[in-house]
Amino acid sequence: MIESLLIANRGEIACRIIDTARELGIRTVAVYSDADAQARHVRMADEAVHIGPSAARESYLVGEKIIAAAKQTGAQAIHPGYGFLSENADFAQAVADAGLIWIGATPSSIRAMGLKDAAKKLMQDAGVPTTPGYLGENQDPDHLKAQADEIGYPVLIKAVAGGGGKGMRRVDASGDFRDALESCKREAASSFGDDRVLIEKYILSPRHIEVQIFGDTHGNVVHLFERDCSLQRRHQKVIEEAPAPGMSPETREELCAAAVRAAKAVDYVGAGTIEFIADASEGLRADRIWFMEMNTRLQVEHPVTEEITGVDLVEWQIRIAAGEPIPAKQEQLKIHGHAIEARLYAEDPATGFLPSTGKLAALHLFEGPRTSFRVETGVEQGDAVSPFYDPMIAKLIVHAENRADAIDDLQHMINKSHAWPVKTNAGFLWRCLDSDAFRSGDVTTGFIADAGETLIPAPEAPDEFWHAAALHVMERADTLEVETTPWTSFSGFRLNAAPRREVALAGPGETRIVPITGGGDYDDAWLIEASRIPGEEAFLLFDGGQPYRFAPARHEGGAGGAAADGAILAPMPGKVIAVDVAAGDNVAAGQKLVTLEAMKMEHSLTAPFDGTVAELNVETGSQVSEGTVLVLVDKAEE
Ligand code: ADP
Repeated sequence: MIESLLIANRGEIACRIIDTARELGIRTVAVYSDADAQARHVRMADEAVHIGPSAARESYLVGEKIIAAAKQTGAQAIHPGYGFLSENADFAQAVADAGLIWIGATPSSIRAMGLKDAAKKLMQDAGVPTTPGYLGENQDPDHLKAQADEIGYPVLIKAVAGGGGKGMRRVDASGDFRDALESCKREAASSFGDDRVLIEKYILSPRHIEVQIFGDTHGNVVHLFERDCSLQRRHQKVIEEAPAPGMSPETREELCAAAVRAAKAVDYVGAGTIEFIADASEGLRADRIWFMEMNTRLQVEHPVTEEITGVDLVEWQIRIAAGEPIPAKQEQLKIHGHAIEARLYAEDPATGFLPSTGKLAALHLFEGPRTSFRVETGVEQGDAVSPFYDPMIAKLIVHAENRADAIDDLQHMINKSHAWPVKTNAGFLWRCLDSDAFRSGDVTTGFIADAGETLIPAPEAPDEFWHAAALHVMERADTLEVETTPWTSFSGFRLNAAPRREVALAGPGETRIVPITGGGDYDDAWLIEASRIPGEEAFLLFDGGQPYRFAPARHEGGAGGAAADGAILAPMPGKVIAVDVAAGDNVAAGQKLVTLEAMKMEHSLTAPFDGTVAELNVETGSQVSEGTVLVLVDKAEE
């Protein structure tokens, strides 16, 4: 068995691999860039090696540095996770050449599946159905256009070297073909250094169905059933589940058998995924599901398969790499219940899903019984989402007896998880799960684009939230207590015969004076959760996963960019270019505290009143997201 393992990755997948390694009694070595010096995967590993600057191409993508780190720490094996070097055949070869165990597909399998056209040909030879289309060497534009005309529109032009949803163009009419071809080739040449394309029939009502397979060095191949990853945004998966809704046992059997044939065709060893595209216009039918591509690595969405099969896929990867046979026979593998995963991203749906980086001043990820709820994350409260890497905060995974329960559980989990002040797609995820289309199991890859704005939470808080927030402030003022748990519920809250009062509140986008009349009566139909923001006299209320920030305000209102309670917030995302005070300093009203560079302009943030600097949360060079508390000023006694 392997005794020590280097994880050539970061974030949640590095942490997830360390978890399993630890259970197997394997010593773990993390690698990290400058930006990740304090990262969770580094804290979790037994040992960690610095491999360079923050940019991935100078650290996580440099094979030599990773192999040197393995040598230096005496690690026997390297697990690449997903992304980065996981499907780099040259790196896999270099690892083996250095006398280390590569926990991944063989270089020859990676190469065989690396180009879409070669992979499709291989699959056709193995009797695996592939999407109808043109695969030939002849790349002459006239010839390609003639092929597209013959296939019939719409067609999809795909870069043979493409990946990650890049290098694809849908063409709806013959007249548009040439322009689309040109732009696709341009993108392919600049992104992949190879401008060759293939053409496929564009599948209308497409669903993305993939099969998890495993092969070992003893010639065995098994499948672990399918996942449905049809809920996508711009060809990127958003929510994944297993099994696929509406999959009949017969169709499943045919599909999984085709996946096993595909794996056998390349003598596959380790974990792999065969991706298929289904024309679901009349439900899932075996004769309308075609091979799309093979991913020769562990997938982001592997946990849903783990949940329904009870198998730890990383453990299998490690055992197989060590030469053991696959730990289970096909007949022993069964589907139990239903699992769904949602990818919680630090991105803002309201601004076209722009990444929202910065410190996670608050981070709460719902914890429930492990048999039903699972969180995979690479960050904790206080960590930062860095602009250098994929801005995923966590994967939220549920496992329930049936699909409807799993959806309910995941909505609950999302609504009870939050990050602040970094913006997330939680509200968007919640709405996707809430849609009739998703609930009925009838989602195609175009769903999000078609649904558009209806999936984006409103920036303004619902009116009843202002009321709930006012009650919350009043209740706290009465008891002068800070909650001992992060959550307070307002379900059915009643204020009987309370005297008329009003509360000044700074809420999303505005400040309001909210009158509270005696006997405010709220029925159980709505339930609002409040969570305090650490270090701030403010709290969040949630609506379908979307947080709305409220803070007590003074009637006279605060200065620009500053809350009336002395918390100086970043008015927009930016970089701190100067800090003019230190913690403990006395400051006068109007005195410059911090200068922020944002939108190519400098913004000076000043003290709202005379007082002392109670907290200084940034330093020169800090990247901050909108709403980050930069400085907290305690007001001087009058
Ligand atoms: P990549 O390697 O860039 O991920 P894929 O070939 O896996 O590209 O395709 C990515 C996504 O594009 C699929 O999940 C599916 O949503 C869509 N897609 C791919 N091929 C077709 C097709 N022939 N018709 C319609 N949609 C397609």
